[in-house]
Amino acid sequence: MSFQPSSNISLMRESATIAVAQQARALRAAGRRVIDLGAGEPDFPTPQFICDDAAQAVREGATHYTATEGMLSLREALCAHAAHYGPLGTGIAPNEIVVSNGSKQSIFNACFVLFGPGDEVLIPTPSWTSYYEMVQLARAHPVGVMGDPSNDLKVTADDLVRASTPRTKGLILNSPCNPTGAVYSADELKAILDVAEQHGWWVISDEIYARLVYDGPAPSVFAVAKSRERVILMDGVAKAYAMTGWRVGWSIAPLAVTRAMTALQSHATYHTAAVSQYAALSAVTRRAESEAAIAAMLTQYRHRRDEGLRVLSACPGLGIVRPAGAFYFYINVAAAAPGDEDPGSTFARRLLDEHGVAIVPGVAFKTPDWIRLSYASPVEQVLEGAQRVVQLFADMARSEPARARA
Ligand code: GLU
Repeated sequence: MSFQPSSNISLMRESATIAVAQQARALRAAGRRVIDLGAGEPDFPTPQFICDDAAQAVREGATHYTATEGMLSLREALCAHAAHYGPLGTGIAPNEIVVSNGSKQSIFNACFVLFGPGDEVLIPTPSWTSYYEMVQLARAHPVGVMGDPSNDLKVTADDLVRASTPRTKGLILNSPCNPTGAVYSADELKAILDVAEQHGWWVISDEIYARLVYDGPAPSVFAVAKSRERVILMDGVAKAYAMTGWRVGWSIAPLAVTRAMTALQSHATYHTAAVSQYAALSAVTRRAESEAAIAAMLTQYRHRRDEGLRVLSACPGLGIVRPAGAFYFYINVAAAAPGDEDPGSTFARRLLDEHGVAIVPGVAFKTPDWIRLSYASPVEQVLEGAQRVVQLFADMARSEPARARA
C-alpha cells in the first residue's frame, strides 16, 4: 500500500511532548528504570470527591449525548467560575462558552475558525509545541516572536509589532508559559493587549496554568483587556485539578466566534464525554474542597520547584529561567555542545541513554538550545533528574574543550 498524506498535513509533525511521554512509558514497560520528567502531567490523583461525583452521575444515567457546546449546567457553573479571571469575567453568558475535549481542542477550534490561508499568527516563542501545528493545520502561517533571554524569554508589545505585517490576524498568549514557567505582569500584558486592539488582532489567551503560580498571581487577559471583543480565553481542569485524562477544557469567546467553534466541534468530536463534564461540574462547583486540593498540590509543586532550582542554579554555565508558574524548568544547555545545531536534542538523548531521565528537547518549542524538565513528579525524582542534568552538563562541558583541542 502506498500512502501519500494529503496536503492538509504536509507540514504536520507528531507532538514532541506526547512522543517523549510515550517513549518513557515504552522503556518502563520494557523493564528499564526511567525518571519521566517529560510530559507536563500532574502526578497527583484527581481529588476523590470529583471521581465520586462522576461515578454517581454515571450510575444516574449520564451515559448519553449532551449539547455539542457542553451541558448547560456546566456552562452556567463556568459563568460563575469566570468571575475569578477579573472584571471582564463577570456577566458572561452560557452561550459564550464551548466545552471541548481539553483546552487543546478549544485552541484548535479557535485557530481553525479565526485563521486561514494568507493569515499570519504571532506566537511568542519559546511556545508550546502545538500552537505552531494548530495554526498550520488551519493553513495559516505561524510567526514565531523570540522572547528576551534577559526577561525570562518573554516578548514585549514592541517585539510583536516589529514581527507583524498587514497580514497579521492574531496572536496566541500563554501565561504562565509552557515551557518556561514565565508569568507576564499586568503591565506587560496590558501593553500587548493595547497593541493587539490597535491593530485589530485576535488574541487567544491560553490560561491553563494560571492557578499554578508561586510568586504571586498570573493576571488574566480578563483582568486587563479593555473589552472581550477580540479576546478568547482558554482554560480547563487538566492541570490545576489534576484531571488530564478527563479531557475537559473550555473557551470564552464573543458569541459569533462561539457559534462557529460549536459548529466545527459538532462535526469533529460532538462533545466531551458526559461523565467528564460531570466531573468538571463537581470540580468548579464544590469550590471549598477544590481550593483545598489545589492549595495542597501547589505546596508540593512549590517545594519541588525550590528544591530543583537549588540544584540547577548551583551549576555554572547552565542558564535557567526561574519559573514563577506552571511546572517546568527551562534550561539552556548550549554551552555543553558548542557548534551543535540542536544541543537540546543531543543533551536529551544522552540524558535518557546514559542517565535514564526523560525530558523534552527545546526544539519542540522552537528553541533548540534549551531543554524542558517537568517537575510534576515526586520531589525525589525531580531532585535526581536535576542532579543528572547537572552531571551530564558538567561532563559534556568538560569534554568539549578537550575535543576542540584535539
Ligand atoms: N501540555 C502538556 C505538555 O506540554 C501535555 C502534553 C501535550 O498535550 O502537549 O507536556
